[in-house]
Amino acid sequence: MKIIVLNNTKYKENDVIYNAITENGYVSFKAPGALSGKSQVMWLNNPLTIADAEFSDRRYKYPTLKEAKLISSPINGKESLEELTILSVIIEIANKLLPDDDKHLLFKEIEEGLSALKTAPDKLLALLIFLARAIKIAGASPEVDSCVFCGSTHKIAAFSFRDGGFICEDCLDPTLDLPSFTGSQKLLIRYIFKAPNYSCVGSERYSKEDKIEILKHLQDCIDCDLGVFIHSINQLYK
Ligand SMILES: [Zn+2]
Repeated sequence: MKIIVLNNTKYKENDVIYNAITENGYVSFKAPGALSGKSQVMWLNNPLTIADAEFSDRRYKYPTLKEAKLISSPINGKESLEELTILSVIIEIANKLLPDDDKHLLFKEIEEGLSALKTAPDKLLALLIFLARAIKIAGASPEVDSCVFCGSTHKIAAFSFRDGGFICEDCLDPTLDLPSFTGSQKLLIRYIFKAPNYSCVGSERYSKEDKIEILKHLQDCIDCDLGVFIHSINQLYK
């Protein structure tokens, strides 16, 4: 079965316990000798490695890895620092955003996001699209076509994740201290939540500052509304 490795812990001697997702669920398994120099599956130790794996001894708490074939590794050694940091963000999302029983819901997104990270012309924008998709899977789907209260498409004044999306000037409660975004930042929010794929068409319309601003905002939203703080995002704006 196809798996994505989420993390691993040393078990005893050179044995390793891995936690991974399949397309349908969560699986923990043991790979004896995976840390020894002679191991044929050393590559499994990189989180987000995708593999085709077979298990035996399913009656035990941890089934044992019988055979594994590498499908793709997240790292090929040529990544820039920015790409490696983006990879850490995806690792954190995969491990923390959803409870174990639901983590597999991100399987397809992680697979697509990793391949986008290698090919997308704008890596930071690809990360924003990945985060927007992960946020939707976690159950928050903000309205980005019109005002969430009255449906107006004019005079959009603010974006409030907690209220459910864009708010127009007429519906905005001025006593609320909502972050203010520039016109292009509001368009960027709409862009990432509506992007049908990672082709990043039109990415030149958004500056790096816009992308970082929205990235920080998504970090806040995930923290305040989904209760998960994604630390590695800090590395992208320090
Ligand atoms: Zn309104």
